[in-house]
Amino acid sequence: MAAKNAKILILGGGFGGLFTALDLSGAGEITLVSDEDHFLFKPMLYEYLSGEVEAWHIAPNYSELLDKDVHVVRGKVGSIDLNGRAVTVEGRRDPLTYDVLVLAMGATTNYWGVEGAEEFTLPFRSIADANHLRRRMTEALDRIQPDAPPQDTRNALTFAIVGGGASGVELSTKMADLLRDAVKRRALKGEPRVIIVEMADRLVPGMGEGLREHVEKALQEARVEVHTQTRVARATEHSITLEHNREQTEIATAGVVWVAGVRMTRLIENLDVEKDKRGLVIVEPTLQVRGHENIFALGDGAQFANVPPTLAGTAQLALQESHLCARNVKALLNGNELKTKHFVELGEALSLGTEHAAVLSAGQVMGGPLARQARFAMYTARLPTWHHRLRVGASWFFEGTAPRPLQPLGF
Ligand SMILES: Cc1cc2nc3c(=O)[nH]c(=O)nc-3n(C[C@H](O)[C@H](O)[C@H](O)COP(=O)(O)OP(=O)(O)OC[C@H]3O[C@@H](n4cnc5c(N)ncnc54)[C@H](O)[C@@H]3O)c2cc1C
Repeated sequence: MAAKNAKILILGGGFGGLFTALDLSGAGEITLVSDEDHFLFKPMLYEYLSGEVEAWHIAPNYSELLDKDVHVVRGKVGSIDLNGRAVTVEGRRDPLTYDVLVLAMGATTNYWGVEGAEEFTLPFRSIADANHLRRRMTEALDRIQPDAPPQDTRNALTFAIVGGGASGVELSTKMADLLRDAVKRRALKGEPRVIIVEMADRLVPGMGEGLREHVEKALQEARVEVHTQTRVARATEHSITLEHNREQTEIATAGVVWVAGVRMTRLIENLDVEKDKRGLVIVEPTLQVRGHENIFALGDGAQFANVPPTLAGTAQLALQESHLCARNVKALLNGNELKTKHFVELGEALSLGTEHAAVLSAGQVMGGPLARQARFAMYTARLPTWHHRLRVGASWFFEGTAPRPLQPLGF
């Protein structure tokens, strides 16, 4: 196939898909399919929830990021026909055909079959999810009478976060700070109750001791209630039932957020390619799908051998893979040798409430408000395109990144 006329179809416009498209610009006829009209810098979704950042900072529209030669198709991929080299997109009559396919559709929330979880708990993966959660917190606050006793405030503001990984910690500390600030501003009596639930015997398993110290301190200061060795037996519209030591306790809740792991989408589950035990598409060291020279996969949906467990399923891995993927797509089209790469950990950064963070960089751990600034700086550098980085960096520098309080609805 002639490189300049080759049809390159990228499915998914997140860390893997968008950055591949950016690197590939000019390499062929490129089409990117996404069910959203924007990229999302997910590591800062917590700051969007708290209003520390705005949607345009972390969720820029593809049209602002991609050159005109990358055609963006907005829609949900319906099916992938590997033999016919065609992909259908919901709401679009004609399938999209390709010479080279890039699979970058990420993963989705895993509810592990827990009764009521998918129906009643809130996911936290998109701008819409964060808007929904923020609204749920505001509505819960609005229901509290100004003269209500402390116990009523606690009951009305009981939120549970299921999953004690980094997401659970970041979300629970952020929510606790936001709710406590709103209670104070509204001169209510009492405190919110924010619970984090984890099956393992400790939160953030795999995290180094240096960062862990900051995590534990932040959870304590935010007065987040930690339930380890606890599983969720069921969730209903207004409650969650926890099981610890075979004893079940039902807790009335204003909201439950589910961040307890990911799984592959049905589309990838049904795709006839080699996968590992968790359903991830197995890729060669070149990111080519095993047995399919013209199909590449990367990000949360791809299993690349020998990646350290702490790097697997992260934005930093998807980002590094995107550069290799684009390079190898070009090499394939030009008849050049395809390469591989050793992916490295670029450091860790956790948001811990609205005023603190913890950052691990070059072996050094930093905590507190300075780490929060460092995290913002670190993430500015990883936003897509120079133009967007400069606009966002200037906005954070000149306009600040203070959280937006949970005002009464209709305020
Ligand atoms: C709240 C949150 C916080 C996180 N924080 C961090 C962090 O601090 N550090 C870190 O390294 N990682 C973090 N991660 C993980 C990181 O975001 C993922 O590892 C990374 O986004 C994976 O990139 P990806 O391209 O595989 O998938 P994604 O970035 O999720 O992109 C997938 C894209 O495909 C689209 N898509 C999916 N299905 C379809 C379909 N059928 N049709 C069309 N489009 C589709 C999606 O809308 C999305 O645009 C976080 C994740 C979440 C949810």
